[in-house]
Amino acid sequence: MTGDSALDAARRARELAALGADPAVDVLVIGGGVTGAGVALDAASRGLRTVLAERADLAFGTSRWSSKLVHGGLRYLASGQVGIAHESAVERGILLQRTAPHLVRALPQVVPLLPGIGGAQRALVRAGFVAGDVLRRGAGTGAATLPRSRRIAAAETLRLAPTVRRAGLRGGLQAWDGQLVDDARLVVGLARTAAAHGALVLTRVAAERGGAVLRDTLSGETLELRPRVVVNAAGVWADTVDPSISLRPSRGTHLVFDDAAFGGLGAALTVPVPGSVGRFVFALPAPHGRVYLGLTDEDAPGPVPDVPEPTDGEVDFLLGVVNTVLREPLSRGDIRGSFAGLRPLLRTEGGATADISRRHAVLVSPTGMVTVVGGKLTTYRRMAEDAVDTAVRTAGLTAGPCRTRDLPLVGAVAGAARDRLVAPQRLLERYGAEAPLVAGAGSAEQIAPGSDVTHAEFAFGISHEGALSPDDLLDRRSRVGLVAADREAALPAAEAAFG
Ligand SMILES: Cc1cc2nc3c(=O)[nH]c(=O)nc-3n(C[C@H](O)[C@H](O)[C@H](O)COP(=O)(O)OP(=O)(O)OC[C@H]3O[C@@H](n4cnc5c(N)ncnc54)[C@H](O)[C@@H]3O)c2cc1C
Repeated sequence: MTGDSALDAARRARELAALGADPAVDVLVIGGGVTGAGVALDAASRGLRTVLAERADLAFGTSRWSSKLVHGGLRYLASGQVGIAHESAVERGILLQRTAPHLVRALPQVVPLLPGIGGAQRALVRAGFVAGDVLRRGAGTGAATLPRSRRIAAAETLRLAPTVRRAGLRGGLQAWDGQLVDDARLVVGLARTAAAHGALVLTRVAAERGGAVLRDTLSGETLELRPRVVVNAAGVWADTVDPSISLRPSRGTHLVFDDAAFGGLGAALTVPVPGSVGRFVFALPAPHGRVYLGLTDEDAPGPVPDVPEPTDGEVDFLLGVVNTVLREPLSRGDIRGSFAGLRPLLRTEGGATADISRRHAVLVSPTGMVTVVGGKLTTYRRMAEDAVDTAVRTAGLTAGPCRTRDLPLVGAVAGAARDRLVAPQRLLERYGAEAPLVAGAGSAEQIAPGSDVTHAEFAFGISHEGALSPDDLLDRRSRVGLVAADREAALPAAEAAFG
């Protein structure tokens, strides 16, 4: 790492002033989700003078509403897209082993074999898991990092997913994939690593007029920028930045439960959707003692909201599917919260829509703006590489080669070096090598009774992670805000953290 990765309000003010004095930059990146933060890191680490403008906060958009999985690409194999599946598996390996071992861990996935799952479906899942092993090996990820898939006994299935029905349970099928400690943390880690490489990371700064103007949404002031090239990474809002493209969103919803509702889940409980082939609902162990249950896929036309809302129909669908395997059905009363995110579909010239949730698209508009849209959290690095290659070509910039394959994110640590760190386990799991620094940033007391978040984490969010308001702390630096009652209890601590 070359420079200081800490983001705070003073740095933001300094950098805005510096930009006002010298508005000529190589690359302006619009959007501080995983895509934009990845592009900023790629560009800055190639030696380009880079500015990232995010109108709200880091991970404000879709990047905080994902399933938080680092996929090996199995689902793409099912539709015959071998190249995309391989790319996903390679990127998963890079994240797990090199760039973010502190943020991504191996997660067992279990399909319980109950009478409702027919022989054909079982054979299909088994074949898929074996194909996943081939993909993993092909991507160079060893079984020590992600174990082989296998059939497990009923007792082991129940150990991992204790609330699954015992009657008729003939064991389970188990495979492994990657899970992020939290998606918003990946975005913050990327943005801070980009800042350490010289990128100016500016939140509460909206890009207007195609990136020619930046507006500080806190002060209302504007500055005129002279970027050699603009990379539009505004996600589902990309068509408001570049009107030459047209997007149509589709909504994916998750429900939030207490971990106790699933009896202490030790794996991704994977439930086939009755009557479908290759479609599943997942219950995923999550931070703050929660379980996330997802995922739906619903057409969501109309204006793009800042915070999408799940519908009753989606709630019924998710409960209905998971209850097919549970001993005691879950009901609406068990739901503690919910969240929904939008995936973009690209409208092509003929009026049809193209699903870019699998393979991303890099488009160059008639004005020379480069838009990168679609893809996955998992493949953000490859998306960034493609976008910056295109930007460099389009604008005739002089830049080094892409370096991000071997560029660890701030806090990256694994193995013996991690074992030597002295800090509470929970902090090690969320902050990696920075855990001792976080512990030293403030008091180890909980922000509210029963919460696992400490005052030190809120203080670190402000001093190092660019949090500018209580919302940033509650909804993105931590995920306390996913349960309304927890949010209310933690609000005074978040407000007090700003003095
Ligand atoms: C429900 C769901 C589940 C998913 N699960 C997974 C998963 O488990 N694993 C996986 O790999 N992928 C997953 N994905 C895909 C992944 O979440 C997305 O591909 C990714 O988060 C998109 O990131 P982005 O940066 O392109 O967009 P966003 O995160 O939406 O970022 C765009 C940003 O641009 C900003 N912006 C907009 N306009 C302007 C402007 N004018 N000026 C400045 N800033 C602006 C917005 O505020 C926003 O922060 C999932 C997607 C969905 C919808």
